Amino acid sequence: MSRTFDCLVLGAGMVGLGAALALQERGRSVAILDRHGHASGETSYGNTGIIQSEAVYPYTFPRDALEIVNAGLNRDPRAHIRHESLASIAPALLRYWAAGAPEARERSGRGLRALVSAATAEHRKLADAAGAGALLRESGWIKAFRSARGREQGLKEAEEARGFGVNYEELDRGRLLEREPHLGAAAIGGVHFTDPLTTSDPGGLGAAYLELFRARGGEMIQGDARTLDPSGDGWSVNSEAGPVTARDVVVSLGPWSGRFARGLGYELPFFVKRGYHMHYAPRGNGGVSRPVLDYEKGYIITPMAQGLRLTTGAEFAGVDDPPSSAHIDRLEPFARELYPIAERLEPAPWLGRRPCLPDMLPIIGAASRRRGLWFDFGHQHLGLTLGPVSGRLLADLVTGAAPFIDPAPYKVERFG
Ligand SMILES: Cc1cc2nc3c(=O)[nH]c(=O)nc-3n(C[C@H](O)[C@H](O)[C@H](O)COP(=O)(O)OP(=O)(O)OC[C@H]3O[C@@H](n4cnc5c(N)ncnc54)[C@H](O)[C@@H]3O)c2cc1C
Repeated sequence: MSRTFDCLVLGAGMVGLGAALALQERGRSVAILDRHGHASGETSYGNTGIIQSEAVYPYTFPRDALEIVNAGLNRDPRAHIRHESLASIAPALLRYWAAGAPEARERSGRGLRALVSAATAEHRKLADAAGAGALLRESGWIKAFRSARGREQGLKEAEEARGFGVNYEELDRGRLLEREPHLGAAAIGGVHFTDPLTTSDPGGLGAAYLELFRARGGEMIQGDARTLDPSGDGWSVNSEAGPVTARDVVVSLGPWSGRFARGLGYELPFFVKRGYHMHYAPRGNGGVSRPVLDYEKGYIITPMAQGLRLTTGAEFAGVDDPPSSAHIDRLEPFARELYPIAERLEPAPWLGRRPCLPDMLPIIGAASRRRGLWFDFGHQHLGLTLGPVSGRLLADLVTGAAPFIDPAPYKVERFG
């Protein structure tokens, strides 16, 4: 027998969980469908764990020719290119590059800031309700600099962010070591963003939000979203527990959303920026107490429940290309200079995929042409941050309430 809900959310990552909880709060009966049957063990598990209230501009493609050449030749460790995949990803990279032009960057920044400015409060509300407040640290995160040039550039960016209300403290080496005493001699100073929340367990945070959803009467169902079909005046999927129908369906399949949308007839310029993590044991009693970015080299070490987690910047490759340890291998020698890390704790790096659109804004809202079909994906580097706040906006739109921010920047129609 088919089970029926008002809303069916596809995907139990931070974005799907945020949507499901917000719809539930508006009195809708909601089920989440995920192929794993539990909160995302995918991208929303393996990230750096920063709720990035300081992210007032998107990460754009470099504009400087020398920087592009260096990145293209894998001379810049902040990114890693799989050259064998270049032909297949070149069109996406070209659109990403174009979206980094100054006016386009300003437009994306405005769209991003509207969401980011409400993101921390939405997490705090959910974490408190879920009894998971202890998973959120309030000590911010640090960009550590190795060179005067790096410091100059990093301070320039921080100052630009200050114009939008971002708080930071400049640290000379002495003050950096007061906060993180185990950093190596390579670090000459830093910038401390004091307001962002960070978590020692992004997967645990997602699991706590799922428990909250269940405690409020929501259902977590295991099944394959690709079985979605129109049915009556709504939608149906096949799940492990039989057919499920709903009037409204929300696509929040993270990195798998582009392909899924294509199956429904939406050709979007969707691509992924892949990224890896590896956990390390601490060296002796060493450690860091909050995420610390090695600014010039472009990776972060974060204290996590599982160990000291090194997360990489972007690897440009096909979504399904096999994982490789090349990017972690390039970064590890730098990490050993700066952080008190000892042996690797896993045999191979974890691979994640940041779901991206060229303007670095998510799609949140009605899918044009199909009644009851809603999109909530493409949260790029910021899906942990933006999951709950995107859910709030989506719930406004699904229920016909006045949207709490202007939804225009996130419409699917911007891609024609
Ligand atoms: C290395 C790295 C570091 C990052 N650091 C940060 C950070 O510090 N802060 C931040 O805000 N963001 C960060 N991000 C980005 C963030 O992790 C992502 O934007 C976010 O997790 C995306 O969430 P999601 O719910 O859209 O996707 P996911 O978490 O990937 O969830 C998608 C879900 O869809 C399910 N699914 C897929 N296909 C199907 C199907 N056919 N049927 C059923 N279910 C399906 C999957 O099982 C999965 O559970 C980082 C990303 C990476 C890779």
